Amino acid sequence: MSNGRGPTGGKSRRPNICSFCGKSHRDAGPMVEGTSDVFICSSCIELCYNLVREEKRRNGKSRPVFKSIPKPREVFQFLDQYVVGQDIAKRSLAVAVHNHYKRLSHADSMEAGDVEIDKSNILLIGPTGSGKTLLARSLARVLNVPFAIGDATTLTEAGYVGEDVENILLKLLQNADFDLEAAQRGIIYIDEIDKIGKTWNNVSITRDVSGEGVQQALLKMLEGTVSNIPPQGGRKHPEQQYIQMDTSNILFICGGTFVGLDKIIRRRLGKKQIGFTGTQAVIDETHELGAVLEKVTPDDLIEFGMIPEFVGRLPVHCTLAPLDVDALKRVLVEPKNAIVRQYQKLFEMEGANIEFTADALEEIARRAIERETGARALRSVVEDVMLDYMFELPDVKPGGRYVINADVIRGEEDLLAPSRLRKESA
Ligand code: ADP
Repeated sequence: MSNGRGPTGGKSRRPNICSFCGKSHRDAGPMVEGTSDVFICSSCIELCYNLVREEKRRNGKSRPVFKSIPKPREVFQFLDQYVVGQDIAKRSLAVAVHNHYKRLSHADSMEAGDVEIDKSNILLIGPTGSGKTLLARSLARVLNVPFAIGDATTLTEAGYVGEDVENILLKLLQNADFDLEAAQRGIIYIDEIDKIGKTWNNVSITRDVSGEGVQQALLKMLEGTVSNIPPQGGRKHPEQQYIQMDTSNILFICGGTFVGLDKIIRRRLGKKQIGFTGTQAVIDETHELGAVLEKVTPDDLIEFGMIPEFVGRLPVHCTLAPLDVDALKRVLVEPKNAIVRQYQKLFEMEGANIEFTADALEEIARRAIERETGARALRSVVEDVMLDYMFELPDVKPGGRYVINADVIRGEEDLLAPSRLRKESA
């Protein structure tokens, strides 16, 4: 970088002038110097960068966006690497996503009079920490498309304090490195969609009381519209140029816990049909809830408080069951980036080795269940236990082998106690 202060190294030189726009360093600011007295100012760098990117994008357009559309089975198998259980949701998502991208490739080659395939946005219904966001995120990964997450409770109508609906689109565009074409075929996950129902009373006072404006704005996006996106976000930069983004090929996945929806379904079905009778003394409530939610219909969602147009725009319903102790134990060890695997890696980096016993996993899972936030609680349960050990570990002689059992999890045994380490040392 040159500061434009004239000759360096004793060689006399021209004052720095941008070789592209001809502006001097005084007008154009700092410049990058090339060989043979060539300079380029920051505005020209930016301009060149945009030109090259635009060119690349144009070239990219002639290629099919997807080399091949993954088959539902392939999508399912990929999801399986990251998401434990939830097979029903995985299957319906795999089919829905396969169809969605088939629809896009069909649209690319469609001729007049051809059958148009409708867009199938997806509604995920399941308790907190059951894997809704994880499923949506993993889908974007398998399809290699841009992905963004928004939260329906923070969205407000233009003019209210909070986030504009368009900001979700901006996030998608940012995650696509401002490649509009790619963003327009990406996936958006909107969490807490159940909280904008008409009858939901717990809305923030900073937004319109019914959330109706937000619902309408979201509806338009789900249906497919051309939205004006402020590239810098928010309303703080009224002078900025808008980017026009077409949402008709974006796959929207909306998720919510829908607390109380099971009661509506139970009422409709009648208790007998789901085997929930007074004589049954012990009922596994966890399984029960999953089985009930599976039977959801659009009418149940409308009764819950979702506006009918909204339900109509989310034709694919996938339900997720709450994770029981066994599922949580699997979440701890099975996924590619499972918590236990992560800790094993961290210990390995300190030249040590750890192992979690089966009773430790059981204890962690049981503690997590008590917190009622599904698999989300697992990390904090493990972190609560491991924090002090991670603090001490770098000061301990490397090469140790540690076994974490239920007593360590309960805090009744010290993992790093010298007596224990000797005993466990290989
Ligand atoms: P939510 O259903 O509330 O959207 P998330 O998908 O955000 O839940 O899950 C929170 C975390 O819990 C995830 O990052 C993941 O680590 C873990 N998790 C939740 N469900 C599963 C699952 N079925 N399989 C594997 N991990 C899971």
